[in-house]
Amino acid sequence: GDTDVDTDVDTDTDTDTDTDTDADAEDPGDLTAGVAMPTQTYERWINDANNVQEGLEEAGYNVDLQFANDDIPTQQQQLDTMIGNEVDVLIVASIDGTALTGQLQAAADAGIPVIAYDRLLTESPNVDFYVTFDNYSVGVAQANSILHGLGLVDDDLEPVDDAPEGPFNIELFAGSPDDNNAHFFFDGAMDTLEPYFDDGTLEVPSGQTDFGQVAIQRWEQETAQERMENLLTTHYSGDDELHAVLAPADPLSRGIITALRNDGWGPTIDEGMPVVSGQDAEIASVSLIDQGIQYSTIFKDTRLLADQAVAAAQAFLEGSEPEANDTETYDNGQIVVPSYLLDIEMVLQDNITEALVDTGYYTQEQVDSGQ
Ligand code: BGC
Repeated sequence: GDTDVDTDVDTDTDTDTDTDTDADAEDPGDLTAGVAMPTQTYERWINDANNVQEGLEEAGYNVDLQFANDDIPTQQQQLDTMIGNEVDVLIVASIDGTALTGQLQAAADAGIPVIAYDRLLTESPNVDFYVTFDNYSVGVAQANSILHGLGLVDDDLEPVDDAPEGPFNIELFAGSPDDNNAHFFFDGAMDTLEPYFDDGTLEVPSGQTDFGQVAIQRWEQETAQERMENLLTTHYSGDDELHAVLAPADPLSRGIITALRNDGWGPTIDEGMPVVSGQDAEIASVSLIDQGIQYSTIFKDTRLLADQAVAAAQAFLEGSEPEANDTETYDNGQIVVPSYLLDIEMVLQDNITEALVDTGYYTQEQVDSGQ
């Protein structure tokens, strides 16, 4: 009867022209974006989530936003539910980039485009786009900030002629092994520090220089603090100085600084606190930088990342393709995922205002209060 005929026509249309027809037929209010975020323990993901949600809602779409408490089964289940509810596009910041292949296959089978948000989704061909920052350059900037703090490079990051010879003692930390970014950060940093290790300017007294030895599972602040405490007990209980710590993210930096403070270092860099790097320009760390306690952070404007994610989602929902500015870097083990990379900025004490206040990311009051 009538019903059969209608169904046939719909099915044919779907198969032939798929997204175009859907987009023409549907207004944004009928479309839903599933947004999966890893955790609320890092300030940035809360900001990312808010910005992505606002952007999508401004464009008229519905949003299903979920945080997964850094628990892989929770995130898998959240995605299963979104796919079961027939969301129209997925934006995913994974916990473990390798752990979602089943969900990604299900999304592909259901015709749902998938955008990897900040963290690459790996070991799957079913990733349509990737929005992120230039992650290798984050590591380069972290390392350069440490060289700057030790007086080895100048403000233009050029080697200083009459630089102190050292040797300077440094300890290294990396992010979570299941986060593809952690490897990019560490590689960028180590490539930059390598000449200084080679000529003896920098030394790692613990001898722990491999990614596997220095990685902090799930990016947990307490784990970083504990590892720093152990390093201090084992390698710095005598007269040995520690001059710098490569730390890949602000919460880890603060865990490391807490361990150092409790062990009597500092309180400020001028008074013996080692030069500690960071990432994300979290307000608590920006305040520590302002006070001369943490040396640096890396500003990644998550407002711009959210904009890119929203633009990519909109492109897919309108039946077109988002515009990539990098199609070579992010090989996920199955495919090279077309990507949009944003620039990053090193923040030291003297450019907090310019980088973070003048751009409206924080108010001066926030910088002053650390909140
Ligand atoms: C992000 C960093 C963040 C880290 C821990 C990484 O994937 O790129 O900005 O600090 O995860 O949440």
